[in-house]
Amino acid sequence: MRVVDKMKAVTCRIVMFATSLTAMVDCESYLERRERLLTQERRNFTGGDLVLSQKETLVNVALLRMKNDELEAAYTNSAAFLPSQNFLLARQSIERSKVFDFIKRVPKACVLHIHLLGAVSVDYVIEHLTYQEDVYGGYVNGVFKLKVLETPGGGWKPLKEYREENSSFDVFLKEKLTLTSSSMTESKEDVWVAFKNTFTTLFDLVAHRPTFKKYVYRVLEELYLDNVFYAELRGAFMNLYETNGTVYDVRVFIDTFVEVVDEFKADHNGFVGVKFIFNLYRGVDGSTMKAALDQLSYFKRLYPDFIAGFDLVGSEDDGKNLVDFHEELHGATGDVKFFFHAGETNWYGRADLNLADAVLLNTSRIGHGYALAKHPLLLELARSRDIAVELCPISNQVLKLHYDPRNHPATVLLATGYPVVIGNDDPSVWQSTGLSYDWYVVLMAMTWEDHGLEVLKKLAMNSIKYSAMSEKEKIAALDQFLTAWDRFVDEFLRSQEVDQRKRVYVV
Ligand SMILES: [Zn+2]
Repeated sequence: MRVVDKMKAVTCRIVMFATSLTAMVDCESYLERRERLLTQERRNFTGGDLVLSQKETLVNVALLRMKNDELEAAYTNSAAFLPSQNFLLARQSIERSKVFDFIKRVPKACVLHIHLLGAVSVDYVIEHLTYQEDVYGGYVNGVFKLKVLETPGGGWKPLKEYREENSSFDVFLKEKLTLTSSSMTESKEDVWVAFKNTFTTLFDLVAHRPTFKKYVYRVLEELYLDNVFYAELRGAFMNLYETNGTVYDVRVFIDTFVEVVDEFKADHNGFVGVKFIFNLYRGVDGSTMKAALDQLSYFKRLYPDFIAGFDLVGSEDDGKNLVDFHEELHGATGDVKFFFHAGETNWYGRADLNLADAVLLNTSRIGHGYALAKHPLLLELARSRDIAVELCPISNQVLKLHYDPRNHPATVLLATGYPVVIGNDDPSVWQSTGLSYDWYVVLMAMTWEDHGLEVLKKLAMNSIKYSAMSEKEKIAALDQFLTAWDRFVDEFLRSQEVDQRKRVYVV
């Protein structure tokens, strides 16, 4: 070694000893320092701790090629970037995306934020459920409702008659069950009214016991077709009824639900199961809250494997806050876990403060947590308690929290490896189905341009880790996921080889 080099090395060692990191930086070139910094950032990002296998790396190369093709087109024409177009207009274009096609094939493990009444695609509901015998429609308090009746009356009319009178009736019905593109120019408050009304329109139809069975089966089918093998569905306890008017208590609802899940599992290899998060409208009074929590605790003891916990629903901006119920929620028995929607708002220092209560009340996960990044202390407290955020980017866009997911605050969470799981919230309301659309938006708009398979794999693994499954169930689910993942990787590589051979043959 030349003297100069030797001196340099010694000096460097001394400096390193003296001032550690800063000193090391002094010995690095600017570009080395830059690289080290970015490598650390990359490592911190969700999935940055995963090392891809050789085969996964090959798949990732193909994914990144597709991703970069789409991004390159958008860099020169940002209007063409599909995630930043409103989903109500962009859905069909997304379906033509190669990245979306890839994501549909990826095993996604679990969906942990999905509402029962927004879970089945609207076309299925209209074609298969509203054409059944004895389905009636009528206005109740100004909202069009569907119901199954044996004997009509009281303003209810068979859908058959509506359809005979108006050949566009199904278009009208679809508008009642979804948010149309006209909602894009409406106020957030008006959109929430239309959003809530979609559930009112559907509720009594789904509560019809034979219809409920078909409906739940279809929920699971649409998820399964999208490579989701487990779901935690939020919903109210429903009093199911028969066509002849017999109304059942809540136990029949749970029994029927469990029966359909078991039937689906028997019919579909690899489907892991369902748990139920009971939710209550946040506008209720304290005594209703207390009664609901007692009821939940009772049913949790009867169905410990099926019932996951409790949540409040409705717009946080114009409903009651968690703090309004802190006594009732504190009084809930220890076996009731919370999965609160919290921070689904753009306002600051108002409904977003639900995040403080969610964390203090030991919520198991945070639904949306849109405002969490604005509260660094709560964010760190939630991180230390390992509370995952359920990110639903399309819902947040359609319900007007953001216009462009590149500005979604949860990007900060992903960038720091905060535990995030992806949910689809109420896909049927935005004429969607499955979980892939939300995964697509996250991958395209909320990750670096060269982030790929490692992020997707981590999101799927997070969905198992932060689910309400028992430890034993999680281990089995993870095994099953990894098997499905390896199969996906092999199949993808095989399909690429076939494509290549075809190309060679054609040439
Ligand atoms: Zn939700």
